[in-house]
Amino acid sequence: VIEIRDLHKSYGPLEVLKGVDMVAERGHVVSLIGSSGSGKSTLLRCANLLEISQKGEIIFEGEPIRWKGAGASRRPADPEQVRRVRTNLAMVFQQFNLWSHMTILQNVMEAPVHVLKRDRAEVEAAARAYLEKVGIADKADAYPAQLSGGQQQRAAIARALCMEPRALLFDEPTSALDPELEQEVVKVIKALAEEGRTMILVTHDMRLAADVSDHVVFLHLGRIEEEGPPEAVFGNPQSERLRQFLSHTL
Ligand code: ATP
Ligand code: MG
Repeated sequence: VIEIRDLHKSYGPLEVLKGVDMVAERGHVVSLIGSSGSGKSTLLRCANLLEISQKGEIIFEGEPIRWKGAGASRRPADPEQVRRVRTNLAMVFQQFNLWSHMTILQNVMEAPVHVLKRDRAEVEAAARAYLEKVGIADKADAYPAQLSGGQQQRAAIARALCMEPRALLFDEPTSALDPELEQEVVKVIKALAEEGRTMILVTHDMRLAADVSDHVVFLHLGRIEEEGPPEAVFGNPQSERLRQFLSHTL
């Protein structure tokens, strides 16, 4: 569903991604692991065009992103294509980014109604169903500040789901949470994986990555150092850097 080929991204002189290739097949969960600063968030943000990479291809559902210009001045050529990619690769961030002045239900309905221009009554029914699915149907009329962190993150997941995206991109969805609250969110992510949702999951939680992934990618200094099925990456790591990384995290 999403293919990334030889992706390069720099911030000024700092080369963050140095030619990354990655594929997330439909219905698969790809976990992205690696030390702080290795470029995991940057890769997700480049994939859904929140950040603009300077070189390489992003192919969404077989359709390559069209660019104009090259290198530092490269930009997507087609705003309509950008909109399509962003709505289809819904991102869930570490900080939930809910609108504080809107109720949970309004937060979940906001983009489908105002960006996608879907029918309000249908969106409301879907939004309530997604809140139910993540276990916070009773919080529909509460404001974000009235929810625990785990509940807020589940609301953010419901909001992403309500876009009916082709894939979900999670950027450390549990790392801002206390361990007990973390488990509530882990449960939701596991349920989504079992449904066969296409997901790319950046996580520090190796147990979660081992549990839900079809494929694990270890990023080191902007390059893929090792990748494979979770049994291989966690059970029989080949690279010394991956072994070191795992010894610090497990
Ligand atoms: P973490 O595990 O801490 O979230 P990460 O793997 O997600 O790390 P990134 O956030 O992708 O790492 O950052 C990779 C590098 O790019 C870091 O050195 C960071 O300082 C740099 N960087 C990220 N965003 C920007 C930006 N907007 N401007 C300049 N440098 C940036
Ligand atoms: Mg990050």
